[in-house]
Amino acid sequence: MQRIGILTSGGDSPGMNAAIRAVVRKAIYHGLEVIGIKRGFNGFIEGDMEPMRLGSVADIIHRGGTILHTARSEQFKTPAGRAKAWENVERFGLEGLVVIGGDGSFTGAGIFHQEYGLPVAAIPGTIDNDISGTDYSIGFDTAVNTAVDAINKIRDTATSHERTFIVEVMGRDTGFIAVAAGLAGGAESILIPEYPYSIEEVCHKLCKGYRRGKLHSIIVVAEGAGSGLEIGRQIKEHTGFDTKVTILGHLQRGGTPTAFDRILASQLGARAVELLMQGATCKMVGMTAGKIVETDLDRVLGQKKTVDLDVYRLASILAI
Ligand code: ATP
Repeated sequence: MQRIGILTSGGDSPGMNAAIRAVVRKAIYHGLEVIGIKRGFNGFIEGDMEPMRLGSVADIIHRGGTILHTARSEQFKTPAGRAKAWENVERFGLEGLVVIGGDGSFTGAGIFHQEYGLPVAAIPGTIDNDISGTDYSIGFDTAVNTAVDAINKIRDTATSHERTFIVEVMGRDTGFIAVAAGLAGGAESILIPEYPYSIEEVCHKLCKGYRRGKLHSIIVVAEGAGSGLEIGRQIKEHTGFDTKVTILGHLQRGGTPTAFDRILASQLGARAVELLMQGATCKMVGMTAGKIVETDLDRVLGQKKTVDLDVYRLASILAI
């Protein structure tokens, strides 16, 4: 193997740059050439690709976002779009591809591998942490720390004003960020898509807390569990409590990656290069129980990863 390509795709996540750096440096260390593909599968189709050198990845380990830029490409979902990408694989002489992204990006890479046989090493990069085959995806830890930081600040003002605060965090289909940030931030209630809740129950808990002298309450809501604004409106209607809503939104996708995410990204990036060099065909690298592991991409995509409900229940017990 002499030359590999690398792209970032889907939503960006803090630590993607550290992963790009690891892939480029590990590959060059072993004498491989690396072609950087810009704007995800869009750049793959358009041939927006250029060689990456040691200096191309200098001074990026601490930066959020991705120097390769990312995109969502509708064209890559079509056979014609993928045929154009294959032309660029041949034009640039790629013998393997590293894809950093979420499950959508992995689905696209898997289909491309099936059609054209290009070896793929996938690296999980999404703040949602909803990819099986790994305990953590790159960016999750940073997003949780950003959310906890926000909750800490909101807690200060919540205490002063004796109010109920709702903090809406990201997580369209899963409550990974909500559970981790809610537990670490000491939230009174955590609402996630995986676990049914009723507003009556949430209000009952709030009233109980106020009766025993709680000065404030913080409720963390995963966006997939309902709109923070609507939940705030309903709480006000049921209890009369002054309820303020903060939607963290894209704040959680940016920022300098935590040390954990940088270390994870460095290890996963290096392992992805090793896998391609060892002749792996279509795998994802991940970390389970503290060890770097690899899993067939088909298996990763065939399994749904769910929130640990024991941790979720623990957060609820500790908030009595
Ligand atoms: P995030 O978790 O941050 O949303 P993601 O990788 O899941 O990241 P998606 O928008 O779902 O993000 O997918 C990224 C890109 O992967 C799509 O824009 C498309 O180019 C490609 N892709 C997704 N599904 C397919 C598919 N079925 N066939 C081909 N390509 C696909």
